[in-house]
Amino acid sequence: MRMPTPDASVLARRAEIVNALRAIVPGEGVIAERDEMRVYETDALTAYRQLPMVVVLPNTTEQVSQVLKYCNEVGIKVVPRGAGTSLSGGALPLADGIILGLGKFNKIVDIDYANRTVTAQPGVTNLGITNAVAHEGFYYAPDPSSQIACTIGGNIAENSGGVHCLKYGLTTNNVLGIEMVLMNGDIIRLGGKHLDSDGYDLLGVMTGSEGLLGVVTEVTVRILRKPETLRALLIGFPSSESGGDCVAAIIAAGIIPGGMEMMDKPAIHAAEEFVHAGYPMDVEALLIVELDGPEAEVHHLIGEVEKIALTCGAVSIRISESEDERMVFWAGRKAAFPAVGRISPDYLCMDGTIPRKQLPLVLTRMAEMSVKHGLRVANVFHAGDGNLHPLILYDANKPGELQAAEDFGADILKLCVEVGGVLTGEHGVGVEKRDLMNHQFTEVDLNQQQRVKCAFDPEALLNPGKVFPQLHRCAELGRMHIHRGQLPFPDLPRF
Ligand SMILES: Cc1cc2nc3c(=O)[nH]c(=O)nc-3n(C[C@H](O)[C@H](O)[C@H](O)COP(=O)(O)OP(=O)(O)OC[C@H]3O[C@@H](n4cnc5c(N)ncnc54)[C@H](O)[C@@H]3O)c2cc1C
Repeated sequence: MRMPTPDASVLARRAEIVNALRAIVPGEGVIAERDEMRVYETDALTAYRQLPMVVVLPNTTEQVSQVLKYCNEVGIKVVPRGAGTSLSGGALPLADGIILGLGKFNKIVDIDYANRTVTAQPGVTNLGITNAVAHEGFYYAPDPSSQIACTIGGNIAENSGGVHCLKYGLTTNNVLGIEMVLMNGDIIRLGGKHLDSDGYDLLGVMTGSEGLLGVVTEVTVRILRKPETLRALLIGFPSSESGGDCVAAIIAAGIIPGGMEMMDKPAIHAAEEFVHAGYPMDVEALLIVELDGPEAEVHHLIGEVEKIALTCGAVSIRISESEDERMVFWAGRKAAFPAVGRISPDYLCMDGTIPRKQLPLVLTRMAEMSVKHGLRVANVFHAGDGNLHPLILYDANKPGELQAAEDFGADILKLCVEVGGVLTGEHGVGVEKRDLMNHQFTEVDLNQQQRVKCAFDPEALLNPGKVFPQLHRCAELGRMHIHRGQLPFPDLPRF
């Protein structure tokens, strides 16, 4: 993995930089000891590790502003960090950069039931928002499986999703406003408690910007009333194809379940052995379909889904009869990643999206790739969204297996693009998919995206080395012209 070459002149000034940061964030807010920084050396893409130059943990927006202003003036790179659960290496440190940890921003600022909003600091966990309003019968809909740990600031940066996003939308559909700090130290607000804001949709631009455009210091999200009734069906199929057909048929019938998730046989077995959810072990694919709403509507829809499932060849159907049983159905799916971690020393979690109807083709091609690369794969899907999470099993201690896993993962993502999908569903590009961006976008597309980056961070100091496969200087981007396939400025770093 090639990252930007550390700037020797910055590293030579390390002691001076640490002192300057301590003047802004006094006390224990600056960590400069190697051993103490070790906890920040990686995120959930643990294949890559790098100690940062220094870690800064501010606890006010004013401190964030002063830190960024200082770093901008003296040319120091900054990597924002929430809980470090990114699966694409978005929070991977840089040797000559600071980690700006938002962990101390952990307070709920305001709960407004009349407007159905919660305003929180960015280090509040995703589940922390639901927990703050659950006693009044409300919840925050986007629910990544990492919700007990991941922060709402990280969710904004990654535009995170979860099992309930099929019906209720991703983070971008549930965030109403943010306060953020630009790299020059300016503090701005986008949106608010109201439904739409005037001007360009900069909130939309920020959501999913992976820490490259600014640092989020406050978030206002929409909360929803907990549905009156929630019930789930656990449906077994003799093949992934028949499961895929069922997903398409449910959507085509005009039913939008609260969640619709699929697992293949290796994932079913790993999850069942881990949480004992009572999953059928003799099926090739398992679909969990959750229906929510008024009791009569849910009752009717369960019957409809049951009929569709049988038409598609379902071999087993269980319907949750209690809240506890519904939670057990979900327990295996929610624990699928750690469950797979028990059956393999290492795994790479991929995240591509395809048009739903391509699922059978993609599964067949993935099985062929598994043979070609000599590695097993377990599949977990947000089936309703066409968002795949193939887990490639490997052993980092075996020479060549990490490379084989990465090659396998790249082949899967290229296949997603080939069949009309995209490189990422919800985990972001980070460093993981950075070098595949050329498969999705043309040089012209990427330059235009970098011009947006330049408008926020002209010196490219915020999280460089992530998302974009090539670095361009902003001044030169304005005149960038590609003639007969020849890239100008060949001396500029390209990763
Ligand atoms: C077991 C497991 C299951 C997961 N399941 C899901 C899932 O179901 N759905 C899903 O979408 N994701 C999932 N993820 C991925 C991950 O949890 C999400 O991407 C999450 O949003 C990251 O939040 P974080 O606080 O850990 O951010 P970090 O990992 O710390 O950072 C992620 C990115 O956000 C940037 N960032 C963080 N905070 C800020 C801020 N305040 N301002 C600006 N930029 C910031 C960082 O620079 C980095 O680029 C899972 C991860 C794990 C380990």
